[in-house]
Parts: sequence; structure tokens; C-alpha cells
Amino acid sequence: MDRDLIIKVAYLVASVLFILGIKMLGKTSTARRGNTVSAVAMLIAVLATLLDQQILSFTEIFVTILVGSVIGTVIARRVEMTSMPEMVAIFNGFGGAASVLVATSEYWPMAHAEGVSMEIVVGVTVVISVIIGAVTLTGSFVAFGKLKGLINGRAITFGGQHAINAILLVVVVVLGGLVVGDPNAEIWMLGIVGVALLLGVLVVIPIGGADMPVVISLLNSYSGIAACATGFVLNNQVLIIAGALVGASGIILTQIMCKAMNRSLVSVLLGGFGQTSSGGAGGDGQDIVVKEVGVEESAMLFESASSVLIVPGYGMAVAQAQHVVRELADILEKRGASVKFAIHPVAGRMPGHMNVLLAEANIPYDKLIEMDQINDEFANTDIALIIGANDVVNPAARSNPQSPIYGMPILNADKARTVIVCKRGMSAGYAGIENELFGYPNCLMLFGDAKSTMTKVVGELKEMATA
Ligand code: NDP
Repeated sequence: MDRDLIIKVAYLVASVLFILGIKMLGKTSTARRGNTVSAVAMLIAVLATLLDQQILSFTEIFVTILVGSVIGTVIARRVEMTSMPEMVAIFNGFGGAASVLVATSEYWPMAHAEGVSMEIVVGVTVVISVIIGAVTLTGSFVAFGKLKGLINGRAITFGGQHAINAILLVVVVVLGGLVVGDPNAEIWMLGIVGVALLLGVLVVIPIGGADMPVVISLLNSYSGIAACATGFVLNNQVLIIAGALVGASGIILTQIMCKAMNRSLVSVLLGGFGQTSSGGAGGDGQDIVVKEVGVEESAMLFESASSVLIVPGYGMAVAQAQHVVRELADILEKRGASVKFAIHPVAGRMPGHMNVLLAEANIPYDKLIEMDQINDEFANTDIALIIGANDVVNPAARSNPQSPIYGMPILNADKARTVIVCKRGMSAGYAGIENELFGYPNCLMLFGDAKSTMTKVVGELKEMATA
């Protein structure tokens, strides 16, 4: 078989596997397999590209892959689950940078070759790759800086900001038109890179920390679109398909996240949300009178409960309490209680955060129930155990039109007969607002780190069982 045909068939197989892989990622039960299928697809695509042999020498390619793989493996193994959005932000940034570099390196020889004209299609795709890639690069690094605390997480705004961004957008599009019209004038291309890099910074700085994961999902989509455009530049089908998949799925995920936070994409992009305190309801919870409960008393309440709904949140991820939570669920089930997990779509700090953590603790998938399916069950539940969750159970989202989270769908944990909240103190959640649920008559606060406190509760229940 000739080499071209092998490459085409390999690209086709890789593309089909990418599509299957991304479909499998849509369900918790098949997500791990989907990840493996996609990784195999990527390997096939890389090997087929190597067969092409037109790019660099094999030595250069292998040294580059080796260095990249070592860096990637070390970083991925070290990163905490709670820092995953930052890592995704950096990856998006590198994806954008790759698109800029590939597209400009395709363009540069054409710009310098006398009398060579660039096809309009090639010119347009080069320009799109460079613009979106550059915006993604700097936008992602600003997002990373905000999440990491290197840059102020608050929305950074100034007068005329949106007008300046709009003008820069027009400038970059006009420069793009000039490059397509006259490929030899590379000064315009340098102008595009510069303005697009600046635009990336300016569009992300007005967006507050609370909206940053939505922005990262959007930038992820941009990096896919940039890669797709680069695929057209290189005439590489697998890059076009993979880029389109990333672009489309990133947009869909962005929409899902916006819906779950009751925010419109436009309001996210215009910025201003995500200050650490807003709506006149500061986050220290000092105005709320709460009832405390101890470990022993909690264990006694669990012992007599016949139904328990566990609501995990960001604090469970911070404490890495998922394994002990599973132990608690096992003990309660052995005693005959029904135990389920109520999953809010934006609990934690990234989509699917709770599902990943609970799957890691081998909690069966059928125990994880999505918000819409579980919400009616709270009213008939003995205990709602809230572990490190806050905003996703804040009744202000239902009742207080002044609250910044008003309208966000929440888990109806407050409707349970008894609510036990395990968190370290009265600190606010991500939205920076206090939670009136903590002062409700049916709510008991079990203060302490989620992992150590739940370990004590489990120990107490074990003792009760042997007594
Ligand atoms: P929150 O951020 O609202 O609250 C987490 C709570 O966990 C805090 O109040 C904190 O209180 C507590 N906590 C922290 N560390 C520990 C610990 N070691 N042990 C016990 N408790 C701890 O979390 P939720 O999951 O309820 O809500 C997620 C928020 O993030 C929402 O506002 C959502 O919109 C936002 N968000 C989520 C995204 C996603 O994709 N999942 C994306 C964008 C935003 P204390 O310090 O007192 O212990």
C-alpha cells in the first residue's frame, strides 16, 4: 500500500476514534474508556504524521516528544485535583501558541517568496489561526494567573474597556484583510500577532474569578477552533476534525456551565461578576446564628436515619474526603439505610469534579444522582449531609433577588428533615456570599476539616456497631 493511502486511512481511523472517545466521555460509566480511546486515536494520528516525514528529522521529533512527555507526566502527576482548571488553562494557552507558530511558519516562506501569491482560502485560515491562537494564548495565561492568585482574581475594569476591545477587534480583522490581500507585507502579520495578544489580555481581565472556569472552557473551545483552522492551513484532515470536536464540545460545555450558574455567556464575557463579596451579603456568616453538633451526636443521628442524601462540594475536594465518605456510605448501607449522592453540575471547581472524585473512591455510578432527578427526594429524606458544599445549597438562589446567585438552580438540601453541614467554619463559598441555610432550624453545623471529621464520625459509628 502506498504511504499516502496508509496515512489517509490512519487519519480516518483516528478521527472515528476521536468521535467515539468524546461520545464515551459524555457518561460517567464510559468516561475512562473514552479517555483511553481518545489517547489511542492521538497516538495513531501522531504516528501517521511521522510517516509523512516531511516535517523534521526523526531525531528532532523524538527528542521533542521525549522532553514534552516528561514535562507533561511530571506536571500531571503532581497537580492537585483542585488545581486542575489552572492546568487546563495552561494547556489551552499552549494549544493557542502552537496554532500561532504553525500558521505563521506556513505563512512566512510565502511572504518572502518573490511573486508567490497566497490562495485566499489559505490566507483566511492562516489569519484565523493566528488571531484565535494568540487571543487564546494570552487569555489563558491571564486566566491561569487569576486562578493561581498571581493576578488579582477580581474583575479588573476601567472606563471605555468594551469600546477599546471592540476597536482592537476591528483593527485585527482589518489587518487580517490586508495580509490576505498582500501576503508579502509581513509587517501586517506581525501587527495581527501583537494586537491579538493584547486583545487576549484585555478580554479576560474584566472577568472575575468566579467566572474563570467558564472562560477556561470557552478558551478551550477557541484553542480547538484555532487548531481546526491550522488543519486547513496544513491541509491535515485529522487536525481539522480533532480541532472541530474540541471547538464544538468546548462551546457546549460553556453553555452547560453558564446554564447551571444561571449566567448568560454575554454577561460572563462582559465581566464584573465574581468579586469576593457582593449583594450586601458578606461572606463571613457572622449575622447567622447556628446550632453546632458534635461528632458523637452526628453519629447517633446517622445511626437512626433510614435515608441519607450526601451533597459533596468543593470542600470535599480540598480535604480529599471522598474515600472516608465512601466508608461512611458503606457503613450506613450495611445498617439498612438508603444512601445516595446528590450531584450539582457546578459543585467543585470544574465540570464533573464531584463525579471524578467519587469515582476515584469507587462509589458506584448509579449512586450519583443528578440535581434534576434527586431534588424532589430531599423532602422525604432523614438526613442531608453536606460535605464542603456551600453555594450549591444556598437557598438565597431561590428566594433573594438581590443575591448574585439568584436564579441559579440549587440542590434542595434545606428540605430534608435534618441537615448536617460539615465545613471548617463560616467562610463563604466561591460566590463570596453568606448562606442562610446554616441558620435554619433543621440545620446542624459539624465544624471541622471534612476528612478528619468524617473519619471521626466513621470511627464512632464503628464503635457503636461493636458495642
Ligand atoms: P463552594 O465554593 O460554594 O463552598 C465550598 C465550601 O467548602 C466553603 O464554604 C468552605 O468553607 C468549605 N471547605 C473548604 N475546605 C474545606 C475542608 N477542608 N473541609 C471542609 N470544608 C471545606 O463550593 P460548592 O461546591 O458548593 O460550589 C461551587 C462554586 O464554584 C459555585 O459557586 C459554582 O458556581 C462555582 N463554580 C464551579 C464551577 C464548576 O465547574 N464546578 C465552575 C465555576 C464556578 P470553610 O472554609 O468554612 O470550610
